[in-house]
Amino acid sequence: MTIKKKRCRFCRNWFPHDPRTERQICCEKPECRKQRKITANRRWRLNNPDYDKSRAGKKRIWARGRGYWRYYRQTHPAYVAADNKRRRKAYKNHKFSANQDAIAKIALEKLASIRDIIPNPSANQDMIARRGDVIVDYLFLKESSANRNATDLSLPSGP
Ligand SMILES: [Zn+2]
Repeated sequence: MTIKKKRCRFCRNWFPHDPRTERQICCEKPECRKQRKITANRRWRLNNPDYDKSRAGKKRIWARGRGYWRYYRQTHPAYVAADNKRRRKAYKNHKFSANQDAIAKIALEKLASIRDIIPNPSANQDMIARRGDVIVDYLFLKESSANRNATDLSLPSGP
């Protein structure tokens, strides 16, 4: 029986093909086998994009059970400094966006209340004055938060 030769996909050299494996694509050199493994892993991850997501919870439970992160933080001060900086920034951003949400909500409530004061030609002077007050109020609020990024919220529906 003659052993067929195949070309290695990575180093492009001919190699004796093991007759038991039809799909062999690389030679036995360690660097080529490593490349083949990396390629296969990359393809597997492309075909299983949710793998990391589904593992995250299990990893977290594993780490907590062993006190992994406590130990890691004790032995890696540079990591701790960078991580604390990241956490402070994330907390600030979170607070900022919460403020923006609150301002946007108040603005929308004011707009809704302007809309709900029905414009009526026979409305008395008090009603018209009240409407003007609310509009000024709204514009003032809008202007005071104009340089921040307002969150996109839709107008609450009327009564
Ligand atoms: Zn090779």
